[in-house]
Amino acid sequence: MNAGMDIEEVLKLLADGRFHSGEELGDCLGVSRTAVWKQLKKLEPLGLPLHSVKGKGYCLEGGLELLRPETIVSGLNDNARALLLELDVQTIVDSTNVRAAERVARGNAHGYVCSAEQQTAGKGRRGRPWVSPFGKNIYLSAVWGFDGGIAVLEGLSLAVGVAVVRALQAAGLEGLRLKWPNDVLWNGRKLAGILLEMTGDVDGYCQVVVGLGVNVSMPPASGATIDQQWVDVQSIIGDCSRNQLMIHILNHLLPMFKEFQAGGFSALRPEWEQLDAYRNCVVELLTPKAAHCGVALGVNDSGAIRVRVDGHERVFSGGEISLRAAP
Ligand code: ATP
Repeated sequence: MNAGMDIEEVLKLLADGRFHSGEELGDCLGVSRTAVWKQLKKLEPLGLPLHSVKGKGYCLEGGLELLRPETIVSGLNDNARALLLELDVQTIVDSTNVRAAERVARGNAHGYVCSAEQQTAGKGRRGRPWVSPFGKNIYLSAVWGFDGGIAVLEGLSLAVGVAVVRALQAAGLEGLRLKWPNDVLWNGRKLAGILLEMTGDVDGYCQVVVGLGVNVSMPPASGATIDQQWVDVQSIIGDCSRNQLMIHILNHLLPMFKEFQAGGFSALRPEWEQLDAYRNCVVELLTPKAAHCGVALGVNDSGAIRVRVDGHERVFSGGEISLRAAP
């Protein structure tokens, strides 16, 4: 049994939030009562509130809803299920995007989806970290193959934002907005982040890894390390099943890939613009070379942002640009 497996088995037992005796845990793990403690020590770095009470045993306060691949796959609609190549649910990974890229390197991964309970090196854009504590949020990467090379990336990145908003709306959230290119905001606070990475031919067939992090019930200690305003689903609508949310996400994301393949971003543009958090606001666009201040006018058919700068409309595109509310 490897270390990952041990943790997984212990967690499956403790997930119900009830007390389990050392004996019961030992029996299940096939280890002695004294060795159980060693296994439980491994839960400490995960930040899980584990209690032990003499005579009662061990319990995980509040329980834990682990991701269940069978539940997720069986909850998908026919359309999404037909597009899913494989759902790979991991316990701990460095980054789901990295795992998906490794899968791509082994061959065609079109329709592969990877998810994990925790990321130890979750990624944002340009090497920024994505805070990814254990068992509380969603971290997911999906692979899709496209013709058209790097040019598809920009529109696709915005289209993914639309699909994620649709999924969150299906889960009962309202008032969501998108910040160009694709941050999902609620009341100006970041609820979900998206990171696209591409491998393959820059002009032809490429496989895109679409990474997504959604805050579901962020533990305060982890949230305190995020250096911008954030929010989680739980504080907006209360309890939310991560398995159900995964189903909503895949039900919207996978068919959107197909929709995008057929019609590009232009068909999704009106919906994106409806969700635009900064339309008609004064914004600052930070490019690697300069900062441009102007009024955000929306986006064009390829997903580039339109900004009126000094009375002239300018169009900005590319993965290296960040939008900020004007100071
Ligand atoms: P940009 O507009 O350039 O995309 P961004 O700061 O939103 O800017 P991302 O790469 O999308 O950048 O995301 C990484 C950033 O998101 C981190 O630097 C941090 O500020 C924030 N962040 C990290 N983890 C989380 C999280 N779990 N929830 C919300 N925000 C987070």
